[in-house]
Amino acid sequence: MIVMKFGGASLSNSQGIIKACRIIKNYSGKNKVILVVSAMKGITDKLYQVVELLKRKQLKKALAIYKEIKSSHFQALSVIKSSAERVKLESELINITSRLENFVKNVVHKEITPARCDFIVSFGERLSCPIIATALESTGLLAYPIDASLIIATNHAFGNAVPLYKKSQSHITKIIFPLINNGVIPVITGFIGFAKDGCTTTLGRGGSDLTASYLANLLNAKALYLWKDVDGFYTNDPHKDKNAKLMQHLSYKQAEKMAKDGAKIIYYKAIRPVEKKLIPIYVKSFINPSLQGTTVSKII
Ligand code: ASP
Repeated sequence: MIVMKFGGASLSNSQGIIKACRIIKNYSGKNKVILVVSAMKGITDKLYQVVELLKRKQLKKALAIYKEIKSSHFQALSVIKSSAERVKLESELINITSRLENFVKNVVHKEITPARCDFIVSFGERLSCPIIATALESTGLLAYPIDASLIIATNHAFGNAVPLYKKSQSHITKIIFPLINNGVIPVITGFIGFAKDGCTTTLGRGGSDLTASYLANLLNAKALYLWKDVDGFYTNDPHKDKNAKLMQHLSYKQAEKMAKDGAKIIYYKAIRPVEKKLIPIYVKSFINPSLQGTTVSKII
């Protein structure tokens, strides 16, 4: 069993979604795959803009951005070949976007608390998840979208919530295992969790890496694949330094340090959960999937 996570940069448009599905199909031949998805490129930033505008009571501007978000997702419908599937997905997207629209319109008169902020910014993943699941089904695989606000229990630290292992384990056993055992790929929203009172929480920017790593731990996965828009970790920023070299192997500690020091390749909090069970992380290039990338593991 392997956990794979695709980031927003990979899911920037229909082509990206098609490519991600091809990669998943390749790997699913030999492995049971659990998929974690981020929001589509730029969407979470836009949702944070909506939050800022609502704080300033600028509803018109907030709704204009909401409309941009909505239309990017409806454009992605073109990846679905079957018209019946497309209609089904369309109505699902209408439900999700209407829920967001109604919330935005109602909350403008209220205080934008951290809990309300998390609820709004969670919609990027809530929207990308059913699109990817349906796109996977279009390729002939079985896939099922899962909102992580049903399975990832966290504390109440909105915006930076910490997943709670014991509480999440039972949800995962009930929801994820039956799917995997029936040959279905669970497609899970990254970044999102839920607190004790049912409120949606988020795990921090870049938090989908943490969702994936945390699930890899709970499911005792064989490996964690993080698909990125870079080839892996470099000795230096390759955009600034022509002599920067790709690092093929890193220890968990080295990767965590580099991530903390600003290498934005992995969310630093994503290292510990897999390190605890010595699960290797393969940082792979979404652009050139055949490249080796960087392996993060105990042995270097
Ligand atoms: N969508 C969230 C963000 O942009 C989480 C993630 O992409 O990992 O920060």
